[in-house]
Amino acid sequence: MTRDEYFEGLKALAREKRKYHAVRTDSFGLREIRQIYKAEGIRIDPWPLPPKIKAMYMCADGDYSVAVQRALPDEPKLFALAHELKHHYVDQEHIANGVVHCGDYNRNEVIEVGAEVFAAEFIFPEHEFAELVKASGVSTWRPEDVVRLKRGTPAKISYMFVQKRLERLGVVERGAFGAVRFKKLEEQMFGVPFWKARARRRPLGI
Ligand SMILES: [Zn+2]
Repeated sequence: MTRDEYFEGLKALAREKRKYHAVRTDSFGLREIRQIYKAEGIRIDPWPLPPKIKAMYMCADGDYSVAVQRALPDEPKLFALAHELKHHYVDQEHIANGVVHCGDYNRNEVIEVGAEVFAAEFIFPEHEFAELVKASGVSTWRPEDVVRLKRGTPAKISYMFVQKRLERLGVVERGAFGAVRFKKLEEQMFGVPFWKARARRRPLGI
């Protein structure tokens, strides 16, 4: 099996599991993925993890659990939990000692890249994303277009997710927006979000 076949197989599996769990892109968040974990019999453990580990998956004698870095913002946390689902579905027999550690340090290993591919498809299938890109009518992508696209999608995804997908679809060169600070740009375009503005006004120490 080639790498591409492996990845395509994982995307197909993600779509199949989405269907089974009735996942809808526009209403899929942490609460929904926790329900899937419950249905699959996987515990989410609140164990503290070393900084370089984003999440880990453990299985032993029919006992399944995942620990995820608690400090992660919602979108990357959702992504990490979907990533761990791939290890649950596919990798139980391949992992040593029943544990997989997931972080940036090993993100280039095939088992890890596969989990990223699975998670992306699970949260926001490629064909749905491609439709959105087409509907945007943009032909030459500028950072401002990326912000508009992300704001226009109800999927809970990060700017990193959007960038990677645009690169994958071939509408943006790899790394083209590497230096762009998208959240800052979004604030410049649309203003500071209400909750953030309040937090900034609050005097220190109160
Ligand atoms: Zn992993």
